[in-house]
Amino acid sequence: MYNVAPIEVDHINEWVAKNHVEVVTTDKPLTAETVSLAEGCTSVSLKPLGPIAEEEVYKKLHEYGVKCIGLRIVGFNTINFDYTKKYDLLVTNVPVYSPRAIAEMTVTQAMYLLRKIGIFKYRMDHDHDFTWPADMISNEIYNLTVGLIGVGHIGSAVAQIFSAMGAKVIAYDVAYNPEFEPFLTYTDFDTVLKEADIISLHTPLFPSTEKMIGEAQFKEMKNSAYLINCARGELVDTEALIKALQSGEIAGAGLDTLAGESSYFSHKGISDDEIPEDFKTLSKMPNVVITPHAAFYTTTSIRNMVQMCLDDQVKIANGQRVRTIVNG
Ligand code: NAD
Repeated sequence: MYNVAPIEVDHINEWVAKNHVEVVTTDKPLTAETVSLAEGCTSVSLKPLGPIAEEEVYKKLHEYGVKCIGLRIVGFNTINFDYTKKYDLLVTNVPVYSPRAIAEMTVTQAMYLLRKIGIFKYRMDHDHDFTWPADMISNEIYNLTVGLIGVGHIGSAVAQIFSAMGAKVIAYDVAYNPEFEPFLTYTDFDTVLKEADIISLHTPLFPSTEKMIGEAQFKEMKNSAYLINCARGELVDTEALIKALQSGEIAGAGLDTLAGESSYFSHKGISDDEIPEDFKTLSKMPNVVITPHAAFYTTTSIRNMVQMCLDDQVKIANGQRVRTIVNG
């Protein structure tokens, strides 16, 4: 296992104790310099931060008898699939590790905005104002409509939580799933925009979903609506979002993802000029809450990323097919 982080160690040890499989770990990434650590292994497990571009790495893995590269993450664009084909290497990922983690962050951001916590904090800290004027009154969630765009693993988990809290949940998805009917009502995209008090995005990023929320969509929303984006930053036109917030077209936004985030989210100690202006503008707004793509970051997620990946490697070593193979 390459790229092993301290928070993964207990989950690895727990899995090893249960499965009696030898696991060799390193915090280093897989490169031509570190590939020899995989000698004698049947699989390698990675959490790559950048592309694994060197042919030598794939060649050596093949020579060592490694059969599979198990990614402990969803994305597999760091892998060179010409080389995995040439050197007969399977690649697996962990596509679903804890929808509930992202759903709970979505609900947390929505409730934070709804109860105007950021605005109360701003008023107390900046103005020493501890009062409750008319414009600071909130509504309770069971009186409100939550609108979801995309109801797959995460969107449906969000729907379950909000419906359990008593909210009316409406949703738009290109695919219909009857299993979700008990806790949401399917409708069209425009109805979600027009009727929802909280609009939350849960679609993947495709060319067809990029900037699916822009100037025209903000105009359709209620002025009292909150937009939550815990999916992908590029689903939203950030410039249009800033304008909609500044003009009062919507009431606030919860963002765990922002377009262009990879240059600063998950980094530490970067200079002020490396932080984009759109982030700086949004983070100063008391009716906006931003988290650095941290919605996934729970103990359950990390355990599942580690243990689901390792389970698949054992199955593959035993000749079983797994559904997480991304290249075969
Ligand atoms: P999923 O594939 O289970 O569900 C996606 C849903 O979107 C599907 O039901 C699909 O039919 C629907 N969809 C696709 N195109 C659509 C469109 N044009 N309009 C409406 N619906 C459409 O995916 P998921 O696991 O629920 O993940 C959803 C999103 O969450 C993805 O963007 C993913 O990248 C993001 N995500 C974020 C984090 C985080 O930490 N913030 C973690 C994991 C996933």
